[in-house]
Amino acid sequence: MMSSLRCIAKHPTIALVDSSTTLKDLKQIHTQLLINGVLNDPHLSGNFVATIAIRNPNNLEYSNRVLDQCDNPSLFAFNSMIRAYSKSSTPSKSFHFYSRILHSRNNLLPDNYTFNFLVRTSAQLSSFETGPSVHGALVKHGFENDPHVQSALIFMYAELGCLEQCHRVFSGIADPDLVCQTAIVSACAKCGDVDYARLLFDEMPERDPIAWNAMIAGYAQCGKSREALGLFHLMQMEGVRVNEVCMVSVLSACCHLGALDQGRWAHAYIERNKVRMTVTLGTALLDMYAKCGNMSKAMEVFWGMKEKNVYTWSVALGGLAMNGFGEKCLELFSVMEKEGVQPNEVTFVSVLRGCTVVGLVEEGRRHFDSMKELYGIEPQLEHYGCIVDLYGRAGRLDEALNFINNMPMKPHAGAWGALLHASRMYRNMELGELASRKIVELEDRNHGAYVLLSNIYADSKLYDGVSNVRQNMKAKGVRKLPGCSVIEVDGEVHEFFAGEDNSHPRYNEIEMKLEEISRRLKLAGYVANTNPVLFDIEEEEKEDALFKHSEKFAIAFGFISLREGVPIRIVKNLRVCWDCHDVTKMISKIFNREIIVRDRNRFHHFQNGECSCKGYW
Ligand code: ZN
Ligand code: ZN
Repeated sequence: MMSSLRCIAKHPTIALVDSSTTLKDLKQIHTQLLINGVLNDPHLSGNFVATIAIRNPNNLEYSNRVLDQCDNPSLFAFNSMIRAYSKSSTPSKSFHFYSRILHSRNNLLPDNYTFNFLVRTSAQLSSFETGPSVHGALVKHGFENDPHVQSALIFMYAELGCLEQCHRVFSGIADPDLVCQTAIVSACAKCGDVDYARLLFDEMPERDPIAWNAMIAGYAQCGKSREALGLFHLMQMEGVRVNEVCMVSVLSACCHLGALDQGRWAHAYIERNKVRMTVTLGTALLDMYAKCGNMSKAMEVFWGMKEKNVYTWSVALGGLAMNGFGEKCLELFSVMEKEGVQPNEVTFVSVLRGCTVVGLVEEGRRHFDSMKELYGIEPQLEHYGCIVDLYGRAGRLDEALNFINNMPMKPHAGAWGALLHASRMYRNMELGELASRKIVELEDRNHGAYVLLSNIYADSKLYDGVSNVRQNMKAKGVRKLPGCSVIEVDGEVHEFFAGEDNSHPRYNEIEMKLEEISRRLKLAGYVANTNPVLFDIEEEEKEDALFKHSEKFAIAFGFISLREGVPIRIVKNLRVCWDCHDVTKMISKIFNREIIVRDRNRFHHFQNGECSCKGYW
């Protein structure tokens, strides 16, 4: 491709065209070329078309018009148009120029460049029709062994999610060069086979930034956040330049792990290396701070962003809601409305959650109604679930049920789940039974529903009900998810699992700390709840099982490894159980330590014996 770029714009006047040339300038240059007779030369007129298409893609329409004035446009001019359109917002227009090649009066034939660009167009279009037919055409014209075309084909099939086709094309390459190797690594990483991608990646004699970026993105997307961060560090040790796309993956990995130190470090890296701050990157940065519980820093990033889109606003709103700042969330939403930013579905999920965390029922209802009336957005299942939650948390269970019964679509497990939680909270066994039955009808292995129902029975001391639920779970093979808590210390992420997990190198010290915590809790009057409650969801059949929940290990480890006074931040994959919640509240008071737990749903900021969720989560 480079050679074809180099041969354009040799004429001094044509060479004036660059990305900043305005339409007015283009017209002037055009006139000059006409006056000097330059455009009578088919080669030079082709160059003019190509130069505008490649260097000034904002004026594609204009180069198109110039092309129409040429008598017999060259293949180079057509290829340039195909290439320019393949990168434009209307890639399908590329095919128009392909057909003009085939029907040209001077009997042009497409070459490997033509097909390379057409394959890229098909990748852009992500269409299952054009992709394979372009593949067929290029085989017919004998370009299936061109390395550029082959690598483009692999990228295209990856875009279509056809990993098998990628492998087929790759295995047909006799001696795959670096570009083809990069293509297959990227394809495997993109399509979810990240382990195989890593295998190929490790075998590459040389790796270009595209392969690194694809690997990190692949890890981040499938939730292998630690691997993503590990590779990011390796990337820097090898001195590979990191681009903004890669930084988005890195930040999303930090987000997932709640790894604030590494997130901060990534932020510093972005500033130090002047990584281009796109809207997506800024939004990812904001999201990272919000999900790591540092909302003031998140808002600082938000207000500092020059350009914001609807996702930026939605992420900020969602962050405020998740961190329990419901009023601030609604304030920000009214700023958004004043600034004339059109909200979307995602925005309203954030806004409704903001209403829920502070119990603003009427306000929430009003926003829900405004979705359709004001913005023409049809509420979806998730929004309905939010409203059930809103009524439920406020203790208005009848209205919650009524709302579910009047949904225009079949209620989903999420709506019933919200009602079930509220039933537990307000000890309404009848509604709890109804809700859990409905959930199990929809998802017969929804362990959360069984656990909650069993807890509702346990609260009312109906132990037959408890054992029935347990038997039911066993019979249906419902498995409880293993609880896992993550804590970051000095930029390293430590994972703890529920039960007898003694794999940590400092296990003995952690045990000792746990004993000390337990002793001091008992002194302060703590009594473990001995109801046969199925705790969400790490229940073990042992008596001391409660003290084996993963977040307790993580907290104890935080005490022995973090500096005095540094808040202990934990990310948990499940909801926090009642006992852990009580215990953590007490620990925050007895040890005078701030503890921040992000569970599957929201943040709990424990301080001085209280939690920011006020006992509802
Ligand atoms: Zn627990
Ligand atoms: Zn809480």
